Amino acid sequence: MKRVAVVGGGVAGLAAALRLVEAGRGLEVVLLDANDRLGGTIATERSGGFLIEAGADAFITEKPWAVALCARLGLERRLVGTRPDDRRVHIVRGGRLVPVPEGFALLAPTDLWNLAGSPLFSWHGKLRMLLDLVLPRGSAEGDESIAAFVRRRLGREALERVAEPLLGGIYTGDAERLSLRATMPRFVELERRHGSLIRGLRATARTRDAGARYSLFMTHADGMGGLVADLARRLPEGVVRLGSRVERLAREGDGWRVVTTGAVHDVDAVVVAVPSYVAASLLAEVDPTLAHGLAAIEYASSAIVTLAYRGTDLPRGLAGFGFVVPSIEQRSILACSYPSRKFDGRAPEGHELLRAFVGGALRPELVDLDDAALRAAVEADLAALLGVTARPALVRVHRHRRAMPQYQVGHEARVAAIEARTAAVPGLALAGAAYRGVGVPDCVRSGEAAADAVLAARPETHVSGRSQTRA
Ligand SMILES: Cc1cc2nc3c(=O)[nH]c(=O)nc-3n(C[C@H](O)[C@H](O)[C@H](O)COP(=O)(O)OP(=O)(O)OC[C@H]3O[C@@H](n4cnc5c(N)ncnc54)[C@H](O)[C@@H]3O)c2cc1C
Repeated sequence: MKRVAVVGGGVAGLAAALRLVEAGRGLEVVLLDANDRLGGTIATERSGGFLIEAGADAFITEKPWAVALCARLGLERRLVGTRPDDRRVHIVRGGRLVPVPEGFALLAPTDLWNLAGSPLFSWHGKLRMLLDLVLPRGSAEGDESIAAFVRRRLGREALERVAEPLLGGIYTGDAERLSLRATMPRFVELERRHGSLIRGLRATARTRDAGARYSLFMTHADGMGGLVADLARRLPEGVVRLGSRVERLAREGDGWRVVTTGAVHDVDAVVVAVPSYVAASLLAEVDPTLAHGLAAIEYASSAIVTLAYRGTDLPRGLAGFGFVVPSIEQRSILACSYPSRKFDGRAPEGHELLRAFVGGALRPELVDLDDAALRAAVEADLAALLGVTARPALVRVHRHRRAMPQYQVGHEARVAAIEARTAAVPGLALAGAAYRGVGVPDCVRSGEAAADAVLAARPETHVSGRSQTRA
């Protein structure tokens, strides 16, 4: 019998383990996680009728892998889409919340009338954006930062007012260092094919499927932790081993020896689905060059402060799904979303839930504030931006240290080198947010691809005949 160990039970490791089990073939699978629960950065708490997410609160359905996995496992009916009400996102400008103009697609406008009427930009800024229609293409070679690209095509205001805060909110990153190709390949393609982002976006908007089957963002009825729990229930008994921190990985004959805190697993193949800096230390003896490449991927830390209020304590109400804050506004909050507006069942009647993001690559020091100071910084911003002065009915602080990989300029080449190196080590596959997409659907895809790589390897590479676990 072949044995495979999956190291790391975040969503990537879970997806890998499910794929291996799905494949059947008498494969024996163990999923090892250091923690006392699965899910990694994903976790959900219920308290006093509120549903509080420690990490991800939804996933995008344009990338199909998470929905497809749920559909295969019969979990689709447990997924819920965003509420149909006011879905707009706002941006802070001069201390006020201004809606992102209708038709603005992350970096660039598509509806020029809405752009013209928006108070978000100066006239100079708006005219500079229109230059995108006539500016020549950039050089097709190489990578560039998101900041350099947006400044080049659309100007400084588009960068400072929209692109930096929207993307900063997703990657908790620094737009001056984030790779355009690794984070926004669609925009590279739009410039290449259409010579202009505005023209390209308008052309693709016309051809897009208007009758999409799913809401753009979905979550699980019981929160993302509910999704993890449902996925974990699809694994046969005995696969999941919690409290199993892997301390060492070593080649042993044709196979692998996986040493955890309490046991040794001799297996034929390993899927390593931990953050890349952990993978680097585990693989340092196996392939120092690979480990060096893995260690070069930087991570940012962030914190989420979730606060619950009575609706009557929000004097200006809540509009849309939330807001993002450009760094030029000099606030502590990077972004704030309203889970009770986005999804049903997140707060009891008459209450609202707010989720403020703090820290990231640009303000790492804030993550080290103690809970009281972090909460005070967030409450001061909410008072200024939303007029909230009441004490929240509930507060939770979740810190995510070194949890968000930073796809810096040159990331694709770094990952290609890592993948080439990994492919040369028999019975090894990597998965997780560090490589080709940080979102939940990308992590599912990477876990499944890693499982497929292990399954596709030639049998003589993996069958060692020594498959046993010693306590
Ligand atoms: C604050 C935050 C908000 C986010 N919001 C969203 C969102 O709304 N939508 C979205 O799509 N994505 C979101 N993301 C991104 C997405 O949630 C993550 O990229 C994804 O969940 C990472 O999954 P993973 O399996 O790669 O890694 P992780 O979740 O980091 O899991 C790695 C696992 O490895 C385990 N581990 C570590 N070391 C060892 C060891 N030595 N031995 C054994 N086990 C070990 C850990 O305990 C952990 O369980 C967010 C991320 C963060 C941090």
